[in-house]
Amino acid sequence: AEKPPERPAVIPPPAEPADRAIKSRSGGKPLVVIDAGHGGKDVGAIAVTGGYEKDITLGIAREVARVLRERGRVRVKLTRDDDRFIPLGGRVRIARDARADLFISIHADSAPNDQARGASVYTLSAVASDAIAERLAARENKADIIGGVNLGVEAPEVGEIMVDLARRATNNVSVQFAEMLQKSLEEQAVGFRGEFHHFAAFAVLKAPDVPSVLLETGYVTNRQDAERLFSDDGRRRMARGIARAIERHLTGK
Ligand code: ZN
Repeated sequence: AEKPPERPAVIPPPAEPADRAIKSRSGGKPLVVIDAGHGGKDVGAIAVTGGYEKDITLGIAREVARVLRERGRVRVKLTRDDDRFIPLGGRVRIARDARADLFISIHADSAPNDQARGASVYTLSAVASDAIAERLAARENKADIIGGVNLGVEAPEVGEIMVDLARRATNNVSVQFAEMLQKSLEEQAVGFRGEFHHFAAFAVLKAPDVPSVLLETGYVTNRQDAERLFSDDGRRRMARGIARAIERHLTGK
C-alpha cells in the first residue's frame, strides 16, 4: 500500500518581526486607511446611554487621523469623514485603490449581557475563533443589508478570497498589527474582553493585499464602556493607543 504523503519537513519561516519599517506600497510615507464603521442609515449598535455606534466610530477615526497628521510620520486616509453610508465592499475598495499599507476598521460592540465589556481585535478567517466572534461577524456583515446593497453582486468575492492561500502573508501582517494594537491600547489603560485577538469572516477585512484588522472599541450595551466611548477623555485615550500602534507598525518606531 502507498504511504500517505509526508508532512513537509520545512516549516515556512515565521512572518517578519514587526519591529521594522514596512515598505510603503505607494512609495513615500506609509499609508493607513482608517474606516469609521457604519454611517448614514446604518447607525450600528445603539448604546445603553443613548447614541449610536456610527458616531463613536467617526469620532475615534477622526481623532486618530488628527493625531497621526500632527505627528506627520505616516499618511492617513479616512473611508468617511462625515455621516454617510458606504457599503463594506466600497470600504475595502478605498483601501485597495489607495494602495494602503494598513487598514483598520473601527467599531463598538453590543451584547445581550450588559456586563460584557472591553475591547477586542479581529482579523480575517473563513472559520471563526469562537461563537461570539462568529455572531459578531454576522452582525457587522449585515451593514450592507441595512444599506440596501445587492448581496448577489458583493458576496461571492468573499468566499473566493478567503480560500486564497496568497493572502496568508497579508494575514500574518494583520495578526502582527493586532498584537501591536493590544500592546498600545493597554498602555492607554484600555481594557480587553478576555482573549484580545479573535478571528472571523468579516466582509470588510477581505482585501487580499492590504493587512486589515477590525477593532471593537468596547460594548455600547455596558454602561461604563458606553460612557467611556462617548467621553472626550475615553475617545482620546483610545485614539492615542490606535495612532501609536499604527506608527509603530508602519515605521518600526
Ligand atoms: Zn459595528
